[in-house]
Amino acid sequence: MNKVLALLLSLTALGAIAQPKQLCVTVDDLPTVEYGEGNQKEITQKLVAHFQKYNIPAIGFVNEGKLYESGKLKAERVALLHQWLDNGYELGNHTYGHPSYHQTPFSSYSKDVLKGAVVTPPLSKKAGLPWRYFRHPFLHIGQNQARYDSLSSFLTQHNFIEAPVTIDNDDYLFAKAYSNAHKKNDKAQMQRIGSDYVKYMEAKVFFYEQASDKLFNRQIPQVLLIHANLLNADYLDDLAEMYKRNGYTFVDLHTALRDKAYLEKITKFGNYGISWIDRWALSRSVPKEFFANDPETPAYIVNAAK
Ligand SMILES: [Zn+2]
Repeated sequence: MNKVLALLLSLTALGAIAQPKQLCVTVDDLPTVEYGEGNQKEITQKLVAHFQKYNIPAIGFVNEGKLYESGKLKAERVALLHQWLDNGYELGNHTYGHPSYHQTPFSSYSKDVLKGAVVTPPLSKKAGLPWRYFRHPFLHIGQNQARYDSLSSFLTQHNFIEAPVTIDNDDYLFAKAYSNAHKKNDKAQMQRIGSDYVKYMEAKVFFYEQASDKLFNRQIPQVLLIHANLLNADYLDDLAEMYKRNGYTFVDLHTALRDKAYLEKITKFGNYGISWIDRWALSRSVPKEFFANDPETPAYIVNAAK
């Protein structure tokens, strides 16, 4: 046996060669978030092209309310969903009108969930793709156990699986700032925002890796939340390169959720929309330091997003 092979074998035995880290990319607010730019088609085409280039089995969460204008279903918006489905990307339910469960009575919220499941399920079926996941708008799952339980059993009853998020972030602020720069055709500002966005997202992944280590003593498959906007359409290549550089492979949601970490119970609730890792940590009553050093959004982004 040559020396290199012997060394490799002993390292493997010691567990010193890290298991590849896994990332599931989930995209919310389909068909798109466009801040009045009118570039829905461009955003969708670019996102799908990135998924294909990097073999990212992404899933998109649809607000079906966005498919209508003055009560009429718009064929060109439904066509945007076809871009996803026809290329093999699964879609899920993100409600019809994006209400906050924390500000909506159960009866109207549950109606909105079902109203958001009219157009997409038959399209998914036709494309040979499952229709099974639900993503809570604002990650509002219920402010207390009772409200969480009623929504949870409603979802189960209607065959929806909750789609958790572990890497929560402020991509929407960067995207709003980026869109403002785009409207002014300020290329330098767009580039600055884009490159700071990738750095910020890298800091976020490091933060949640540490958190995963502290909670589970290992790297669990992470579920990333981003939105269907121009910033991600332009920068998903750079993001994908960054995750790859950090040892990630891309997996679908079904694969990520098979990990037993996702069986961890949430027992603490509040009026917030946060990462499931943070929810699990709160439920285990970890010390406050657990949440220290969560990367902040630069002040200039917050300002430029106004
Ligand atoms: Zn949303």
